[in-house]
Amino acid sequence: MTRLHADHALLPGGFAADVLLDWDEHGQLRSVATGQPCPEGVERAAGLLVPGLPNLHSHAFQRAFAGLTEYRGSAQDSFWTWRDLMYRFAGAVTPDELEAIATHLYVEMLCAGYTSVCEFHYVHHDPAGLPHAQLAEMSLRLVAAARRAGIGLTLLPVLYQSSGFGARPARDDQRRFLNGVDDLLRIVETLRRASVRAGVAPHSLRAVPPQALNRLLAGLAALDPTAPIHIHIAEQMQEVRDCLAWSGQRPLQWLLEHAPVDGRWCLVHATHLDDAERAGAAARGAVIGLCPSTEANLGDGLFDLQAWRGAWGIGSDSHASVDAPEELRLLEYGQRLARQQRNLCTAEEMWRAAVLGGAQAAGRPVAGLAAGQQADFLVLADPMLQGLAPEQQLASVVFASHRRHAVREVWVGGRRLVQNGRHAEAEAAQRGFLAARARLLEATR
Ligand code: ZN
Repeated sequence: MTRLHADHALLPGGFAADVLLDWDEHGQLRSVATGQPCPEGVERAAGLLVPGLPNLHSHAFQRAFAGLTEYRGSAQDSFWTWRDLMYRFAGAVTPDELEAIATHLYVEMLCAGYTSVCEFHYVHHDPAGLPHAQLAEMSLRLVAAARRAGIGLTLLPVLYQSSGFGARPARDDQRRFLNGVDDLLRIVETLRRASVRAGVAPHSLRAVPPQALNRLLAGLAALDPTAPIHIHIAEQMQEVRDCLAWSGQRPLQWLLEHAPVDGRWCLVHATHLDDAERAGAAARGAVIGLCPSTEANLGDGLFDLQAWRGAWGIGSDSHASVDAPEELRLLEYGQRLARQQRNLCTAEEMWRAAVLGGAQAAGRPVAGLAAGQQADFLVLADPMLQGLAPEQQLASVVFASHRRHAVREVWVGGRRLVQNGRHAEAEAAQRGFLAARARLLEATR
C-alpha cells in the first residue's frame, strides 16, 4: 500500500481537509494533495493524521534506570550526584544488554509518537575500557535495535576525552567513553558503510579540548560535509562558571567564536544562555535541543523559549519520560510558570516547530507531510477526541493527557508499525529489557 486518505491532517502550513498521501517504494512522499475525495480502493485513516516527531536527543541505556534515582542520596542531590549513579550503569552495560534496552525503548518511542531518534552515544568500549574487536560494536547494537523496532535513526558517536575544561584527565569511570579523533571517525565510517545516517557529537566543551574539536570537525567534513553535529552546551550553571574560569567566555559564546557553528549543529541543553549567545546561535541557523522532562528531572533550569528566535526540537534524553506530547506540555508549562501567562505556544505551533527542528537535527528528510519527506506519521483516534475540531484534538492529546490511547497508528517510511496502539515487537522487547535491567541492577548493587 502506498496511499492513504485522511479527513484531516496537519501539514507544514497548518491543518488541511481531505488529504491524500502518496509515497514511493522507499517510503518517501511523492505528493500530498488537499481537497481530494478518497479514491476507490484507498484506505481511509481512522483519525487525525499528524507528522511523527523526531526525538533529537537520546542516551538509550539510561532508560534502564529511569525512575530508580528518585530518592535522596545526599543532602544536596544534583545533576552531579545523579551522574555518579548513571556512570555505574554505563560501566556495567554489555552489548547484548544495550541492544535489548534500546530495542524496547525504541518500541516505546514509536508508541509514544516519535518516529525518529538521534542517539547521542558515548559508551563505546568494554567494561575494562578496552576497545571491542569491532570498534563500532556498541554503535552497531543501537543500529540493530532501531532496525528491529523500525524507528528512523541518526547515530552520533560521542567524542569524550577529558573530565573538565583545560583537558583535565578523564576519570576512571569514564574509561568506556574515551576515543582518539581518528578512532571516533572510524566508527562514523563503519556506520556510513552500514547505510546509517551518522554524524558526530563532541560531548561538551568540558569533555573535548579545542584541538580535538577542530580535528574532529575537519575529519567529519571530509567524510560528509552535511553530517549533523550535536553537543551538550550549557546544561548546568556549574558548567558555565567552569567555562568562564577556563576561557573568560560562556560555553556557547566560546563555541560560536571558535567553531563553524551552522545549520548542521544541534545545541543540546542550551539552558543557560545570555542574549548575545541566543542572537548568535539563531543567526548561524543552529537548532536548539530541548529536553523538558529530563531538564526538570535533573534540576537543570529553564530555557527561555520566548526569547529564542530560531529552530528547536525536543528530546527525551535520559528517558525519565518517553512521551512526545508530554515533552511539549512540559515545555509550555515551564514557560507559563516562569512568565505567569498562558498559551505562549499552542499545541499546533509546538508540534510543527518540533517536527521542523527535529528533522534539521536528524539530518534526514523527516520534516513533515510534504513531497520529498518520509511518510512518517501518526493516526490519532480516541472516543475522547470525537466531535472536536482538528486543532482541539491535537491540543487534547498534548494538554489533556490523551496520548496513551490516542496514538492509534504509527507509520514510518510508509510502513504501519503500530496498529491499534500496539507494536508487533512490544512483548518480546519488554522481556529482553526486563532481563537486561535485572542483570544490571544486580551488577551495580
Ligand atoms: Zn544528553
